[in-house]
Amino acid sequence: MHNTKCNVLIVGFGPTGSVLANLLSKYNITIHILEKENEIYNLPRAVHFDDEIMRTFKSIGIFKKFLKKTIINKGTKFVDEFDNLILDWPRPKKITENGFYPSYRFHQPDLEKILRKNLIKNKKVKISYNSELLEISEKGDFISAKYLDKVSNSFQIINADYVVGCDGANSLVKEYISQEVIDFGFQEKWAVIDLIMKQNKNNLPDRTIQYCSKKTPATYCRNVGRRRRWEFSLDKNSVDKEILNDDKIWHFLSKWITPEDAIIERKTIYTFKSLIAKKWRKGRVFIAGDAAHLSPPFMGQGMCSGIRDVSNLFWKIAYSCNFGHKEKLLNTYESERLKNVKEYIITTINMGRLLNSIGETNVSNTVKEEKDGSKKMTSIKPPLGPGLGNNKDKLRGKIFPYINLQNSNVSNFDSEFETELVLLSKQNVDNKKIKHINVNKYEEVMKVFNRLNISALILRPDRFILSSLNDNSKINDFIEKSTLQFG
Ligand SMILES: Cc1cc2nc3c(=O)[nH]c(=O)nc-3n(C[C@H](O)[C@H](O)[C@H](O)COP(=O)(O)OP(=O)(O)OC[C@H]3O[C@@H](n4cnc5c(N)ncnc54)[C@H](O)[C@@H]3O)c2cc1C
Repeated sequence: MHNTKCNVLIVGFGPTGSVLANLLSKYNITIHILEKENEIYNLPRAVHFDDEIMRTFKSIGIFKKFLKKTIINKGTKFVDEFDNLILDWPRPKKITENGFYPSYRFHQPDLEKILRKNLIKNKKVKISYNSELLEISEKGDFISAKYLDKVSNSFQIINADYVVGCDGANSLVKEYISQEVIDFGFQEKWAVIDLIMKQNKNNLPDRTIQYCSKKTPATYCRNVGRRRRWEFSLDKNSVDKEILNDDKIWHFLSKWITPEDAIIERKTIYTFKSLIAKKWRKGRVFIAGDAAHLSPPFMGQGMCSGIRDVSNLFWKIAYSCNFGHKEKLLNTYESERLKNVKEYIITTINMGRLLNSIGETNVSNTVKEEKDGSKKMTSIKPPLGPGLGNNKDKLRGKIFPYINLQNSNVSNFDSEFETELVLLSKQNVDNKKIKHINVNKYEEVMKVFNRLNISALILRPDRFILSSLNDNSKINDFIEKSTLQFG
């Protein structure tokens, strides 16, 4: 048995684990990734992500490469059995405050390949494929992890300062933390069929369509290139093998296409669940992504939520590796993330109920009735739950806008606060505790300051606002109070 050491052990190399590794690799710390499989998972999964997630992709340097593998998503329509519009959720082709379009379509294996490739040259990151975590145990100020190297068929040990379980729905790391979950009760069996069109078929919609029905709820997705997806709800007693028979699939799809039009690329059956783990941390061990929460896919937010988790966690762990264990800081991860992901899951469940035609169109509080009586929904953007900072501060926990810069040696303002806290203020500040930027030199940032009516802000590396101030005279007190939980 070999013993190795690292700062952060990541268990699972899906999208959550690989985004975490990319984010952590900005720091001078060692990272080891364990992945039990040798290949990327290739059954139908995520096809949608949003502006906030593209901003994260930009920060880890994959935006340009990945953009080529995406298309802009135009939105979702909910229709009844006669194709009458029940609810419209348009995603206008307009840059959002996050600096990108509101919604994109992609092919999950394309993203995972790019995320993995981006790590290859980084000497601080070690990747072990065919390596299955079997056990973790706490050893005072480090965690010992035992895994099976399936190639040499031998057991190995890694000692890590911190462990993050990004090991998916059947997470072993979650079991180590706690088995308790909050179950929102939505559980349904669905078939998911990915097809590749042989040629363009212009009568297929270029939006996602949710076919609401008591009998056969279904979803159609216009994916990248010639890829198209259909999902349909199944009786829980249906026999998987019979459902996945190609004749049965073509019979179901006959309303839209035939074998002359497309080939079936991938097909599978899932039981969609709606769960959140009650505990996301035990000492130096954390969970993120599907290991921490599961959501039906109707809103396309499962993977996005996992990426939000690790954006929240990476810098808190990196601070602890570089400046000593930060108990209070690490303790804010679960409460900040849980409330945010819960809102996405509840809205998704409401969508599922509408799809089953047993719910109201009141999917979220963002649904508004238009003058002509039709109903329109806008995207939700829940703030962080309670954690760092003062909840009475109205800007705390909200995302800071993405700002393009004209006359500067950096093209966007995000690159000024990717790894550490930064104080932005309209005045010069003499305080060694925090990196400081005088915003007077950035016209575009000044505009945001004036709109928000503030004189100073502290930003976190995950682009959220830690605290805001509108009275210049109290700046040192403001810094002191804002960074109290970093002790
Ligand atoms: C039909 C469908 C459609 C979806 N559509 C969307 C969408 O449009 N948008 C969206 O945002 N999300 C969507 N999702 C959800 C999304 O696919 C998942 O949330 C996402 O893949 C979770 O990523 P993860 O890295 O947390 O977990 P996973 O991708 O499951 O990765 C976990 C990894 O851990 C490894 N592992 C597990 N146990 C161990 C162990 N003991 N040791 C070592 N390695 C281990 C696994 O092999 C795996 O590689 C969809 C899901 C489904 C099923």
